[in-house]
Amino acid sequence: MMLLDGAEFSFSPTAIDPSGARHGLLQTPHGTIATPAFLFCGTRGAIKGLTAEQVRQCGTQVILANTYHLSLQPGAETVAQLGGLHRMMDWSGPMLTDSGGFQIFSLGHGGVAREIKGCRGRPTARTLIKITEDGAWFRSYRGGGIHLLSPESSIQIQRLLGADLVLPLDECTPFHADRTYTADATRRSHRWELRSLEEFRRSTGKQAIYGIVQGGIYEDLRRESCAFVGEHAFFGQAIGGSLGGNREQMREIVAMVCGQKHPTKPTHLLGIGGLGDIMHGIGCGVDTFDCVHPTRLARHGGAIVPPSLSDGTGHWNLKNARFAKDPNPIDASCPCHACRTASRGYIHHLFRAGETLGGQLLAIHNITFINRFFAAAREAILAGRWREFCRINGENI
Ligand SMILES: [Zn+2]
Repeated sequence: MMLLDGAEFSFSPTAIDPSGARHGLLQTPHGTIATPAFLFCGTRGAIKGLTAEQVRQCGTQVILANTYHLSLQPGAETVAQLGGLHRMMDWSGPMLTDSGGFQIFSLGHGGVAREIKGCRGRPTARTLIKITEDGAWFRSYRGGGIHLLSPESSIQIQRLLGADLVLPLDECTPFHADRTYTADATRRSHRWELRSLEEFRRSTGKQAIYGIVQGGIYEDLRRESCAFVGEHAFFGQAIGGSLGGNREQMREIVAMVCGQKHPTKPTHLLGIGGLGDIMHGIGCGVDTFDCVHPTRLARHGGAIVPPSLSDGTGHWNLKNARFAKDPNPIDASCPCHACRTASRGYIHHLFRAGETLGGQLLAIHNITFINRFFAAAREAILAGRWREFCRINGENI
């Protein structure tokens, strides 16, 4: 059946646990995402070290790519000439791109928000030059040229990249921003989001746009921002901006926003990847998450393990000497390629020897672990056992 442009996107929560956790189906032209779901970061057009086929075999439903990085290298026009992101990456499933603003602002304002989210960047040089009503002026880390990222140019770039779900430009305020600054920035972001929506309507492509809820740590601003996103024609809503100075505050803000958000738009929580925080978010009604954590951890020797097996960190560092002669797989019950074929000792050796295969194997395991975790979470919600699922996984909600 031919579907009209835009009609290929839908979201329907199909099961809601008494706690507020929900399971739904998010339909895109590249397939349907069963939620809650995790988006793995293919920052520069690749899930580092893995082919798209390997990422698929790990049970992955949806990935994201970063507009900032891709617009500088290889450039959005080049991606379009290579057939768009899906074709270029050989990824046939759903995909999201961000606006490009997050990298500019987090590197410009300092990495506080990213540190809390466990998403430390590479603040090698001051990236953000200034913010004006037009957009964000920044210095490229490639060549040092000065560029303007405007709401319109971000949408134009994302149209060329061709991901299914796109985000409008917003200002990611730092944690230390005071109320006056955060209020001004939130309202400027709203004006940018409306311009993004306008540009989105002017252009064509099989894509759906999310609105971003800003407001920092201030409840009234968050409420205002939820109402803004709820009343405009955004397909979904993303929770952005500063989520506070520590984990407790972050959870408070997520719960606060979820209490005010539009009830039926799919909800994405930007940049949160710890299992405890994910369970808390799902319990508040968040549908999708993204974070570089599982794949970045893999590159540094970290294997994600069930909370009961780790010492609070949620992972084992296989570079640790205690694994050198360990003949067991990371997790005998895990069906991933790494757990079926490699011992902890072998992966330890690969890291010691500087072989990139070690990071690849851990990425395969970590992605598989997260996908199985989300599949189990969906099953628990469907069965009305969400709280029990959290308890089993060490999270008392
Ligand atoms: Zn595994």
